Amino acid sequence: MALKTLNDLFEDMLRDVYYAEKKLVKTLPKMAKKASSDDLAKAFAHHKSETDGQVTRLEEIFEMIGKPARGKTCEAMDGLVAEGSEIMEEAEGASVMDAGLIASAQAVEHYEIARYGTLIAWARELNLPRASSLLEKTLKEEKAADELLNVIAERANPIAQAA
Ligand code: ZN
Ligand code: FE
Ligand code: FE
Ligand code: FE
Repeated sequence: MALKTLNDLFEDMLRDVYYAEKKLVKTLPKMAKKASSDDLAKAFAHHKSETDGQVTRLEEIFEMIGKPARGKTCEAMDGLVAEGSEIMEEAEGASVMDAGLIASAQAVEHYEIARYGTLIAWARELNLPRASSLLEKTLKEEKAADELLNVIAERANPIAQAA
């Protein structure tokens, strides 16, 4: 589809993140299962439930702009998830696995932070204040998820180093 306006770009990116979030709803439980530290498993489970809510917020925004909630393949998220799966297959030992899972998850969070930052700026520009406030809630969750992973990594990395 030709993208001729900022509005077209906004809808296109909304569909990109909708696909990405739905993919994460399926992926986060797999990561939780692979995590051996309790706090990491809990962080993944908690972010999975937040992600369910993020999907719902995106559906609300599609509704606000009168468009069907339809995803569009996000090659970036597919790639990040594929790299994460590789780590899950190849990492040996619980602590190395945890350090690898944290790294994979942070790549995902940073992608999302970039996307939501842009979507918020575009929603404001397009005079969609209700959409932008929903997107801001999600961005806050993504940033908090990333921060929590930093905290967990500070404990997990030395254990991996010692293994
Ligand atoms: Zn996400
Ligand atoms: Fe998310
Ligand atoms: Fe994408
Ligand atoms: Fe996230």
